[in-house]
Amino acid sequence: MNVTETLPGTHCKQCNFKVAEVVQSCPSCGSESVEMIDLKHNGIIHSFTVVYVGFGHMADRAPYVLAIVQTEEHVKLTTVIEDVTDFSTVKIGDKVRFKNVDPKIGPVFHY
Ligand SMILES: [Zn+2]
Repeated sequence: MNVTETLPGTHCKQCNFKVAEVVQSCPSCGSESVEMIDLKHNGIIHSFTVVYVGFGHMADRAPYVLAIVQTEEHVKLTTVIEDVTDFSTVKIGDKVRFKNVDPKIGPVFHY
């Protein structure tokens, strides 16, 4: 499996907006004065849900935690939280760390 060790994002030099994907122009102001950045690997769980029935290639993974994580730069991204053994312990505000980018599902975080 091809694993990426950095969490890629884009920073707008015009309005300072940051987004957790690589884009050619700023989603906020439309400026093309953007640069690729590596986002910080620490984040907190902003909201989450436990998915019991996955679809397609996610079917084998279910049940799993699908979360919106906010990084230290206050960038929000949708991720899977891996290595959770007891779903009842997952809470909003929990600290999580970036693990890798799964080529099929995107960024993966863990505790
Ligand atoms: Zn901008």
